[in-house]
Amino acid sequence: MKLSSSKKNILIAGFQHETNTFGATNAAFEDFVMADSWPGLLMGDDVITGTKGTTLPLAGFVAAASQDPTINVIPIIWCAAEPSAQVTDHAYEKIAGIICDGITKTLNLATDDIDGIYLDLHGAMVTETYDDGEGELLRRIRLITGDDLPISISLDSHANLTQAIVDHASSITIFRSYPHLDMAETGGRAFEALKPLLDGQKRHMAWRQSPYLIPLPDQFSGAEPMVSLYQDLAQYDNAPSSWCEFATGFPAADIHDAGPAILAQAASRDDAESMAEEMFQSLLDAESQFKSVLFPPDDAVARAISSHAATNTPVVIADVEDNAGAGSPSDTTGLLRALMDAKANNVLLGMMNDPEVARLAHVTGVGGIIDTPLGGKAFEGDPPIDHQFEVIALSDGQFAFSGEMYRGFHADAGLSALIKPVGYDISIAISSKRCQCLDQAIFTHLGQDPKKAGIIVVKSTVHFRADFDAIAPIVINASANGLTPCRLADAPFANLRQGLRLGPMGPAFTP
Ligand SMILES: [Zn+2]
Repeated sequence: MKLSSSKKNILIAGFQHETNTFGATNAAFEDFVMADSWPGLLMGDDVITGTKGTTLPLAGFVAAASQDPTINVIPIIWCAAEPSAQVTDHAYEKIAGIICDGITKTLNLATDDIDGIYLDLHGAMVTETYDDGEGELLRRIRLITGDDLPISISLDSHANLTQAIVDHASSITIFRSYPHLDMAETGGRAFEALKPLLDGQKRHMAWRQSPYLIPLPDQFSGAEPMVSLYQDLAQYDNAPSSWCEFATGFPAADIHDAGPAILAQAASRDDAESMAEEMFQSLLDAESQFKSVLFPPDDAVARAISSHAATNTPVVIADVEDNAGAGSPSDTTGLLRALMDAKANNVLLGMMNDPEVARLAHVTGVGGIIDTPLGGKAFEGDPPIDHQFEVIALSDGQFAFSGEMYRGFHADAGLSALIKPVGYDISIAISSKRCQCLDQAIFTHLGQDPKKAGIIVVKSTVHFRADFDAIAPIVINASANGLTPCRLADAPFANLRQGLRLGPMGPAFTP
């Protein structure tokens, strides 16, 4: 894409990472280059073609912008890595450098012809050096552009908002659903929010940080009190003149600014402050209404067996603390061991990330037996399962997601397989790249029909609900010793704000 002399030129870029500071592995540059559940690194015009038809925020921004004949978008880069521990300094400097160089070069070409910038960011990026990856990126961009160029950003609802993000962005839109079914819509809102700023309008922001963390399972937007909080939020919606956003926060980040925040944007500071204060009061009032229930693995499995017997519909056990999509290894064995101990039947479990087992399954072939430890390798948690496994199905891990959330995305889970512990009726989907179990295609592409399962164990916290709730309305949240802390009072935090409550009505953090 080239600069246009007759249209308004908007530079666009995407750099997404959700950082779980308790994770087992960092995100290196190669992790941003690699395709997984999302596309690999895209540069220049490929940013548009490689995200078209997906539900990514940037795709929504571009779709909205393309409806406006006065707008010309100039893509620089888009990339994301599967959630994990910190982004390496090398990866951060390289990608932030590409974004900043792209802005600098374009500004040098035509200082007066750049009208704005859009960034597709997550909001919970922690690097080896910076606790606030997005705030640091915006700070560097402001050194190039100065304070006046409109910069519109969209964020994931799991953003941990910071003063730097609020100070340096001109406009912020945030997802309003978890599962994230409005990613593209939020990108579209980022475009609508940017437009008045291109015409010289000014906007003020006001924000408040929550005094309590919300564990990820409780952030499900389909249950109270989140339903009511989002209804309250909608009452302030007079975008793009004024509106409120609610970052629910990413609690698996042991940083000063972790946690939920309310953000209001309006033409006057007073309006922004009063909206933020009112919505903040709603957040305070909601604290006592969260009802978190997590069952230990044995208990979860016993409940699932009896629920399935009573209803004859598939029952989901969510392995909420081993979610690749929240930075866990997706290889813990606590639930699998409980399923085997209980001799549970007609079980599907996915996806367990174990490249070595996937490789052995492909070497052995369908019908063969592999004798190797499974899972439990990424960190010192529950040990691997030592057993023989029959290879039931094999795949190259390439498939199309079919659920609403990731419709339009092509998955690359690496070499994959379906295996069963010999003597048990438990089918386990194995991947070579970490892949959150949020879509039925993970099982169907391996020849399994989740609708016919008795129990479906998903290594996912909430996103699975977008595609599994319709076939398995009973959900049991299990706590099985993973690296996505959901029992926040027990997590080894060291760097939070003094007094921040570790969950609704939870104990206050002290360093
Ligand atoms: Zn998220």
